[in-house]
Amino acid sequence: MREPTVTEVRWAGQVWAARQVRASTTGRVYRCPGCQSEVGADTAHTVAWPVETMNQVDNRRHWHSVCWAARDRRRPGGSWA
Ligand SMILES: [Zn+2]
Repeated sequence: MREPTVTEVRWAGQVWAARQVRASTTGRVYRCPGCQSEVGADTAHTVAWPVETMNQVDNRRHWHSVCWAARDRRRPGGSWA
């Protein structure tokens, strides 16, 4: 299996790794930090995490790809940091 492409970006004072994930059938639902709405695993979306803590799965955040792309305009709130 090929490693998925990970993009590193500097944002909000940290370096983040972002990866596009394809739709899956796990049935899981996440909370997008950008818009505070639900992100279903059944839609393609973006997973992002601070690279310094990337071994901690809890630090991963599932974003709508459009929200991740617009993250400078959608400052996350809550306990994401
Ligand atoms: Zn969103």
